[in-house]
Amino acid sequence: MKRSFAASLAMAMALFALPALAEPVKVVATFTILGDMVRQIGGDEVAVTTLVGPDGDAHVYEPTPADARALGAAKLVVVNGLGMEGWIDRLVKASGYKGPVTVTSTGVKPIAGEEEHDEAGHEGHDHGHDHGAHDPHAWQSVANARIYADNILKGLVAAAPDKAATLRANHAAFKAKLDAVESEIKAALKPIPRKDRKIVTSHDAFGYYGKAYGVTFLAPVGMSTESEAAAGDIAKLIRQIKAEKIKAVFVENIADPRLLEQITRETGARIGGRVYSDALSAADGPAATYVDMMRHNLAQFTKALAPAS
Ligand SMILES: [Zn+2]
Repeated sequence: MKRSFAASLAMAMALFALPALAEPVKVVATFTILGDMVRQIGGDEVAVTTLVGPDGDAHVYEPTPADARALGAAKLVVVNGLGMEGWIDRLVKASGYKGPVTVTSTGVKPIAGEEEHDEAGHEGHDHGHDHGAHDPHAWQSVANARIYADNILKGLVAAAPDKAATLRANHAAFKAKLDAVESEIKAALKPIPRKDRKIVTSHDAFGYYGKAYGVTFLAPVGMSTESEAAAGDIAKLIRQIKAEKIKAVFVENIADPRLLEQITRETGARIGGRVYSDALSAADGPAATYVDMMRHNLAQFTKALAPAS
């Protein structure tokens, strides 16, 4: 019996496709929050390497030779943009990577950065980073995380068009999780009067969160952890915490807690706990995924803000 040409072709294609299906696409993400999003959308079709690990600070990261090798082997590199990874361009150049780079924050409406940083040249020579142009922490609003997810889907589909159907299904499932956690955030904050929603964190990482959900965040350090807190700023923050009777003070997983401990000693405020700003926890921690991070932070914030009754 003769096989039709179409059937033979289909068999031949299936034979070719098999080894390709078994091989996941190598993707490098700059830090854990992006790495998780790539994993959510890529599923088994991707093998993700994350450069800055759990609890790591992506603002001031020093890339390693292993990072350059990971980039050299990658089919796609996923970055935040908005000046978050001041070190990425040099690393890409050093690695010889010539492939596509997905900038997850593309299409986000950026919040302007602080234009201060003129503390009498206190910072010394700058390292060529354009920090201060925009607030890079756009992922802290779930609406922006949806944009991140769309950009990642686009990048993954371009890198692995044969896996588009799976990637699209995973993306839809991830967006459903984002919708759910966004509703939780809005519902949990609703009973707390707007004027009481004041929170102190280690550095200015929650600007997008604040804008999206009506919370005022204060911090002794600006939008990049590169700069140190100025004495005047600390004194001002202490006065503000006292005057406005702010109760919610949180250390961040990526930051040294000592400055905030000092501030709480001088104000009588208490450290409410630990929140996750720029990095996820390790896999066995409370914020191992983006969605878990948003849920954990929300629980911490609302616990501290809830009116004492
Ligand atoms: Zn940050």
